[in-house]
Amino acid sequence: MSVATEKYKEQVYKMGLRMGTSGLVTGTWGNISARVPRENLVVISPSGIPYATLQPRDMVVLDMEGRVVEGERKPSTEYRLHLGIYNARPDVQAIMHTHSVFASALAVARKPIPPILEDLAQMVGNGVAVARYARAGTEELARAAVEALENRGAVLLANHGVVGVGRNLEEAFMVCQVVEKSAKVYVWADLVGQPAVLPLEEVEVLRDCYLNSYSQVCMRNCPGVFPRPGNSH
Ligand SMILES: [Zn+2]
Repeated sequence: MSVATEKYKEQVYKMGLRMGTSGLVTGTWGNISARVPRENLVVISPSGIPYATLQPRDMVVLDMEGRVVEGERKPSTEYRLHLGIYNARPDVQAIMHTHSVFASALAVARKPIPPILEDLAQMVGNGVAVARYARAGTEELARAAVEALENRGAVLLANHGVVGVGRNLEEAFMVCQVVEKSAKVYVWADLVGQPAVLPLEEVEVLRDCYLNSYSQVCMRNCPGVFPRPGNSH
């Protein structure tokens, strides 16, 4: 047991409570994990227990091969999905998986969400792809999700739900919320007309501004998005 793992158990536990009341999940569905920096370990929520009844000590610590290092509970059944993403994406520090309704509807229709909103472009990049279908909890689902995710912030799992990733738990949570909102807006926009998709160049600038708020390209192309002190925006 280390101070680092204790800190991340607490964080994953607290985020579980927030996810549980966010409307993004139903019952015990949905799972969360965080990488423990410099330890090559992941803290993940346990399988099949309502978040409201959990304690920080119920979180499970896994190594990168999926072996339980700490914890009495069984890890989330989707631990392979989480580990697959951490192994493929060194930039990802936290993952949330939900079954939110509008994102799941598009995952069932096997329709990707194009980059239709600025916040989606900033937090996810060039839209949300749909991973090919694979059964929940399998290595095959992990592979499919990693392939469709590429370097973006989220992916839809066919006939299943959504996965959001981030540089911390707060960001992964916000990604899941933005994806759900975007799915809703996309469905409604499609009902009333033809959704207009942001051009790739614009998506790239927005994404870069979000990830590197003071980068050269950001200051040149969108100084108003992240004003420096003294800027009157
Ligand atoms: Zn699921």
